[in-house]
Amino acid sequence: MVTKKEIIEKAYECGFGDIGFTTAEPFEVQKTLLEERRPTYEWVAKSGLDLWAGTDPKAVFSQAKSIIVLVESYFNQAFPSNLERYFGRCYLDDDRIIKNNLSKRTRTFRDFLTENGIVSKIPPHLPQKIAAARAGLGTYGKNCLFYSNKLAARGSWVTLISLTVDQEFEPDEPTLELGCPDWCKNTCLTACPTGALKGPRHLDPQRCVSYLSYYGRGITPLEWREPMGLRVYGCDHCQNVCPRNAPWLARERPLNPRVEAKADDFRLEKLLHMDQEYFRSRIWPHMFYMSENEIWRWKMNVARAMGNSLDEQFIPDLGRAFRENEDERVLGLMAWAMGRIGGSEAKKVLTAALPKSQGLVREEIEAALEKL
Ligand code: SF4
Ligand code: SF4
Repeated sequence: MVTKKEIIEKAYECGFGDIGFTTAEPFEVQKTLLEERRPTYEWVAKSGLDLWAGTDPKAVFSQAKSIIVLVESYFNQAFPSNLERYFGRCYLDDDRIIKNNLSKRTRTFRDFLTENGIVSKIPPHLPQKIAAARAGLGTYGKNCLFYSNKLAARGSWVTLISLTVDQEFEPDEPTLELGCPDWCKNTCLTACPTGALKGPRHLDPQRCVSYLSYYGRGITPLEWREPMGLRVYGCDHCQNVCPRNAPWLARERPLNPRVEAKADDFRLEKLLHMDQEYFRSRIWPHMFYMSENEIWRWKMNVARAMGNSLDEQFIPDLGRAFRENEDERVLGLMAWAMGRIGGSEAKKVLTAALPKSQGLVREEIEAALEKL
């Protein structure tokens, strides 16, 4: 039978940065917490991911005896600054669709387990961070993120992969604790632009900019528009401001060539004017939380980021997109964006559009013109 040591060696050979083992016991604390916060998590169940079932590994995979957690830093190489500004770093080199990097290595690792008679499953609804802490791989932050004990200078820039397996391995010493220093006065909680961090380790996911950017319904409410700042897809703010992440952020690193190659496709102007074919071939394979039917939300997010940039160079593109779009949510946000940027060109576009507009779009144009 393959030993724990051999499995660890294989994980490193596959390029993972750390590995830990824990039991397949239920995650009772997580179950209680989900019960207490049921209203804020019910939307996840509706989207098909039963977090409650994930608290019992045996309910997901009846032969589960252990959990193996793999850790990998997704921020070893630098990302182009024009992407970091608008997108969460964890989405910039995500290969879950194209499967040319992490997915491939995970497959190789699982094949090794299979060859050695071990059945493994990767349940997407397992509480990953708790599994990793129970496997002794890191600690929690008050911002609800997981901080590695070893990677990214003990920072939070890590991806976790939890595999339930049908063999028993000696569990590692758990590190189920908060790792924040006393002297940090809750910087992340104060910095969160939408108040999604309601307290230490208490996130209201539906107020988080990440959620709002890819799942938000309808036109972005006025109260969120400025706080969402330049974020188009995802948010890293509570990681960026955290002093536990400062050592890793300060490191020099080479540019990620895979991400650099697609940077031009993600320019805001291109996203604002993209059609379905462009979305299907260049965007969705890398950022797939929004479907083809939700291109309107991509464009709305881009318009909001353009508005919050206060950069007049975006006005011609906003003006052109305003004439070419029909979706009132996109038109409304573009009107808001032009009002926020201001200037004579913005005023000209909005004034010309007013007589032909009605309903929500008209209201947004009027509000924008008032500001001007
Ligand atoms: S990701 Fe952004 S919005 Fe979400 S909790 Fe962190 S700072 Fe707040
Ligand atoms: S900002 Fe401070 S409180 Fe928040 S996770 Fe980092 S160290 Fe902890």
